[in-house]
Amino acid sequence: MAERISVPRGTYDILPDISYKWQYVINVFRKIADLYSFSEIVTPIFENARLFERTVGETSDIIEKEMYKFTDKKGRVFALRPEGTAPVVRSFVENNLDRSGNINKLYYLGPMFRYDRPQKGRYRQFYQYGIELIGSDHPYSDAEVISLAVAFIQKLGLKNYRLEINSIGCVNCSPLYDEQLKEYFGRYEQDLCGDCRRRMITNPKRLLDCKNESCRRIAETAPSILDFLDEECRTAFELVKEYLEIMKIKFVVNPRIIRGLDYYNKTAFEIVTDSLGAQNALLGGGRYNTLIKELGGNDLPAIGFAGGFERLLAVMEKENLSFGKIPAPFIYLVALGDNAAKFALKLGAELRYNDISVEFDIEKTSLKAQMKSADRLNADYSLIIGDEELAKQTVTLKKMANGSQQVVDIENLICFIKTRQPACQL
Ligand code: AMP
Repeated sequence: MAERISVPRGTYDILPDISYKWQYVINVFRKIADLYSFSEIVTPIFENARLFERTVGETSDIIEKEMYKFTDKKGRVFALRPEGTAPVVRSFVENNLDRSGNINKLYYLGPMFRYDRPQKGRYRQFYQYGIELIGSDHPYSDAEVISLAVAFIQKLGLKNYRLEINSIGCVNCSPLYDEQLKEYFGRYEQDLCGDCRRRMITNPKRLLDCKNESCRRIAETAPSILDFLDEECRTAFELVKEYLEIMKIKFVVNPRIIRGLDYYNKTAFEIVTDSLGAQNALLGGGRYNTLIKELGGNDLPAIGFAGGFERLLAVMEKENLSFGKIPAPFIYLVALGDNAAKFALKLGAELRYNDISVEFDIEKTSLKAQMKSADRLNADYSLIIGDEELAKQTVTLKKMANGSQQVVDIENLICFIKTRQPACQL
């Protein structure tokens, strides 16, 4: 008996009516990355599980409950990557890019996996784009990375977004702040959720990030990290703000941004939207100055961010933004009769060889049906080939938008079409 198998929970198919929208957004991202001189890096979608366990942090949601871990046939423990930074740094160190002495500007694209409760804007397989700038602690590089993020969001046409920035301090100032938080949240222990009660001991900053209503209310009046920054972190944060202002990039300081992963320090930022409800973070990032050394590389500072395509697309749909031209063939070949059909095969190959997109009727239906297909597919032109016209070595080119027709010599056809694409006016 036939068995229907469904897509795994928390995952989805990208169907043709959506895939061109993905391509559009991906292309815009690549173009922006190019403009800022970032190069692509591609790493495997699974890694040694220890890579994430060691770097992301034991008390992070990812490690506590969300990692897709599996053992292979030789007993090795791997994980489907839950995020992109640790793999990029692993590759960076493994391939000795840390020895180049240069600043490395890298970007990545691809699926990430988190075993989370699926809901709108939250999937178990989702697609991220990410940027990593490795080798500089200068606030200039923070501004560079943040400005790239904003440029990307702007280029897509989004209006309803907000850049929020913070500094989460460093090894010098962060422990002092943690003590203050422990003391503060300790006073409300009975009103905190179970997760927060546990994290109060292990990672109190995480309490600032809890979505639980009661915890949220308590967090609102918690001490601010900004009052605990040491001289260096404070100066760096002031410069980041100054550089953003110079670039006329609007931001708000939100001292409650802490980022969920352990390896962050100093600058942290998010771009959030009001269009999406609960899952309002479009992208998030920050500085991670110790991660490269922790993974066996040279002592190099770095900053980066990652964002998810799903939420971007959802906002773009909601704000009715353009995804560029809907893909359509430039020419629809309409062949009438056997000879014409054979000629269409040859002509189709030749047009495609000349970078002109072509579609034709494989089932060899009637003229009416073929014209209907040309219309349905939104072709720019239909090119009608009949036996009679073949005898005269001509074809008829019809502009679908206004129905105007022109007879063209086959000899000049490619040239004729090429010079008109895409702005062919009959
Ligand atoms: P994070 O790595 O958790 O800071 O996430 C960075 C960005 O990835 C978020 O701002 C979202 O846009 C996206 N993202 C994270 N987790 C998910 C998920 N489970 N489903 C869809 N998008 C996600």
